[in-house]
Amino acid sequence: MQRTHRTPLLPLALLLAVSSVLGGCGREGSPPVKGPQPDQLPVYQVQSGFTLPDSGTWNRAKKRGKLVVGAKEDQPYMGEKDPATGRYSGFDIEVAKMMAASLGFEPSDVEFRTIASANRETALQNGQIDYYVGTYTINDNRKKLVGFAGPYYQAGQSLLVRTDENDIAGPQDLAGKRVCSAAGSTPYQRIEKDYPKAELVAYDTYSVCVDNLLTYQVDAVTTDDTILMGYAAKVPDELKVVGKPFSEEPYGIGVPRGDNALRFALDDAIAAHEKNGDWKKAYDATLGLSGVPAPTPPAIDRYPAS
Ligand code: GLU
Repeated sequence: MQRTHRTPLLPLALLLAVSSVLGGCGREGSPPVKGPQPDQLPVYQVQSGFTLPDSGTWNRAKKRGKLVVGAKEDQPYMGEKDPATGRYSGFDIEVAKMMAASLGFEPSDVEFRTIASANRETALQNGQIDYYVGTYTINDNRKKLVGFAGPYYQAGQSLLVRTDENDIAGPQDLAGKRVCSAAGSTPYQRIEKDYPKAELVAYDTYSVCVDNLLTYQVDAVTTDDTILMGYAAKVPDELKVVGKPFSEEPYGIGVPRGDNALRFALDDAIAAHEKNGDWKKAYDATLGLSGVPAPTPPAIDRYPAS
């Protein structure tokens, strides 16, 4: 399913304006509003002389002289692009950089490309990107289309509402409510299947859902807790995350299906960066700013070649 970006300019500008007004003045007890600071991010050791001859993807990237990595650009803490500098930041971006270093690529040879949830499989299938790191849940349906290294983190579906909302405390309260999520996402599919009385609204990105929430067009936004905490931190006076996570979303690194050499190399790389402390440093400098201490990373699922 190919979709284009249809980000309405005005509401997003509104959100950015609100967040810049509130920037730096979060209330006591609310998470810091500031994003990751570049000088606090770890530097990953580039494996010079690394080769992966059995990976078509790696060979193509080496020949081209750069890695092209798919990511999100509107998910604070996880994958966010600074419109002024074009620089991407967040926990997923750090994971992507660790992987690049392990594959023998200098940071300057890594190019990020924004791909929306519904377009990830096609982007990997048609070679638009070499791998994808962006809150991408591993599941059996997707495994028919792409490969997954990892998981490198375990998230859970949750709900974001306005602070003046008192009727919604969990997914059981969504009947008759307008609930927004991203097309092609697992949270969208779960509401459709398990909470059919909710009125589902889909956009390409969660930031558009948040704009709709702030302007009373929808009553809730649903996706992973990692993503929703980032929006709530931007405008803590307007938005809150409610209830407990109600799903398991193990995050994987998407690779072209069949490139088992790349997938196993990334599994090894995740394990190595968890062991040498990079993973925790990266977490603390990004998603950890939400106030949630670093969890133990989930076990890597090195499933057989397919
Ligand atoms: N992790 C979920 C998914 O992969 C939701 C987040 C997203 O859309 O990226 O569908």
